Amino acid sequence: MLNKIIDFHTHPIFKPEQNILMYKDSYDFTIENFKENLLKSGISKFCGSVINPNKDSSVLEKVLDNNACAYKLCEIYEGDYIPGIHIHPDYIEESFNQIDEASSREVRLIGELVPYLDGWDYSHKGIHPILDYAEKKGMIVSVHSTDSDALDSWLREHPNLIIVGAHPGDWSFFFKQLERLKKYDNYMLDISATGITRFGMLKKLVDEIGSKRILFGSDYPSCDPNVFISGVLQNPLLSDSDKENILFKNAQRLLNIKI
Ligand SMILES: [Zn+2]
Repeated sequence: MLNKIIDFHTHPIFKPEQNILMYKDSYDFTIENFKENLLKSGISKFCGSVINPNKDSSVLEKVLDNNACAYKLCEIYEGDYIPGIHIHPDYIEESFNQIDEASSREVRLIGELVPYLDGWDYSHKGIHPILDYAEKKGMIVSVHSTDSDALDSWLREHPNLIIVGAHPGDWSFFFKQLERLKKYDNYMLDISATGITRFGMLKKLVDEIGSKRILFGSDYPSCDPNVFISGVLQNPLLSDSDKENILFKNAQRLLNIKI
């Protein structure tokens, strides 16, 4: 039955500065309506990090605050929200602490990490000890994808760590993603943001790598989840079992989500 959807890629809002809605004058988000909109669209569980595009405050303060807000929202949403935490390669020890805190709360997701919002780059050497630690702790890492080869080094050097790239992308970027998926079994892809509007994109992915490494994600509230739901559910080129894998089974397996 195609009646379950887990949105692997969202960015819940606890404070106004964490709101990444593009047309802010058109809609007022509250903690309540953020979730109600998802439920109305048929999404029952949602995952992801709280992000804050503001670059004025101290970055460590911002990272810790985003994580604290994610835990508060997790309580408010009573298990329907699976939080993702931030780490930061400038602060290795503090990142270990954040992973320990997550583990103690049975939170297994790191990210979505969005390096450009927190002033670091994929080639930052400090990321590797943190990924080592995440690997040991059985965490899953979601990251805003890039065509930089630095992301390939994350996958190569941490073969037992599952890394989920966000956004299939278009044209040459899409083919770079596909090449990575074929090369690294520990790489998965969420279908949020760019890519879904190209007819046949999902069919191409499923043909090349199967449907078990593709996750439904929207990037709500930056993007509209309904576009992505329709892109999977009403897709004439996919089998029902592929749709099930993408819509919820893969996320359920990865993060042990009860649905
Ligand atoms: Zn995102």
